[in-house]
Amino acid sequence: MVHLDFHPSGRHFLQIPGPSPVPDRILRAMSYPTIDHRGPEFGALGRKVLTDIKKIFKTQYPVIIYPASGSGAWEAALSNTLSPGDQVLMFETGHFATLWGKMARALGLEPEFLSLRGAEGWRQGVQADMIESRLRQDTGHGIRAVCVVHNETSTGVISDVAAVRHALDAARHPALLLVDTISGLASADYRHDEWGVDVTVAGSQKGLMLPPGISFNALSPKAIAAGKDSKLPRSFWGWGEMLEANKNGYFPYTPSTNLLYGLAESLDMILGEGLDNVFARHQRLAEATRRAVRAWGLEIQCADPASYSPVLTGVMMPDGVDADAVRKLIYERFDLSLGQGLGKIRGKMFRIGHLGDCNDLTLMATLAGCEMGLRLSGVKLAGSGVAAALDFLAQHAVSPTLKIEV
Ligand code: PLP
Repeated sequence: MVHLDFHPSGRHFLQIPGPSPVPDRILRAMSYPTIDHRGPEFGALGRKVLTDIKKIFKTQYPVIIYPASGSGAWEAALSNTLSPGDQVLMFETGHFATLWGKMARALGLEPEFLSLRGAEGWRQGVQADMIESRLRQDTGHGIRAVCVVHNETSTGVISDVAAVRHALDAARHPALLLVDTISGLASADYRHDEWGVDVTVAGSQKGLMLPPGISFNALSPKAIAAGKDSKLPRSFWGWGEMLEANKNGYFPYTPSTNLLYGLAESLDMILGEGLDNVFARHQRLAEATRRAVRAWGLEIQCADPASYSPVLTGVMMPDGVDADAVRKLIYERFDLSLGQGLGKIRGKMFRIGHLGDCNDLTLMATLAGCEMGLRLSGVKLAGSGVAAALDFLAQHAVSPTLKIEV
């Protein structure tokens, strides 16, 4: 038996931008007994989640569910659609875009990275006009796919996927459009079919409020057709057998049964609340967070207000302050986890997650932990971010989810 000698009172505040806190309702659903994944009950569960998940992606086409983290679904998107040596055009929005590019290279593809124009560091979203002009130059159509990250979790910047689609159309380029919305799905507006995305990659541990462990590829007919000719090796990730088995709600190999119970519950919660309400709730908490950061006199990592992420906010530290030391202090003193800066902005910023199962008081506790931690770290604050966020939340009431009769 393992004895843990550290047991703080009260709940831990998991305010990283995913994994996000798992609501009790989902935890309970996941505790149902594991059933025979080839038996009749499983088929009903499989059919339900495979149908309802399409509403979250806003697609009428198949969505594949892998028993894997988001990186697996990244690999599936590339390996099902492309062939060795294929050129792919990617956009360096931040750490996750960079990692997807590294994966593309490791798989034998030729990624070309477009870097943000005019921004110091990773502080803006995809600049679709750069994609359009690069595609116009590619008259031989050597570029087989354009890959972008919708919500860049390392920075708190969201990109305009419809504008990227428009760039492909304006350049009359036939490349596939592959989009990572691992941290955007079910928190930020997303429209797989309307935006003409060929493969959307997503994961369970963010807006869907599930533990890590399942991930998704939403497909288009063009992606499915490309999958028949593409030559990159794949077996576990292959769409073919999966699509066949999924027709009846089953999987070609053992699925993550209990995570699928959780997914069924999560879909009921999200669709019950209504996607637009979910998005509005995220926008409101994100705005309260930004008001806090501004009141502290600190800078938001995202430099473009049109690209603020509803999922997380990156907080830049003044010169000479180590963001990781601040995060460590906040974790140790207040049992609050914040996201670390990743890649080239490590130590320079931290990230506040305000996604999924988060409400006004969760956010206020988080901002209070940040404010106290910043002060204790000796950061000179211009004012109270907590007060600014409180004001905003009080003035912008959200429609109550509970109507209490008195
Ligand atoms: N892409 C984005 C935007 C992410 O936020 C993450 C993880 O946080 C990944 C990819 C990688 O996913 P995973 O860690 O689930 O493999």
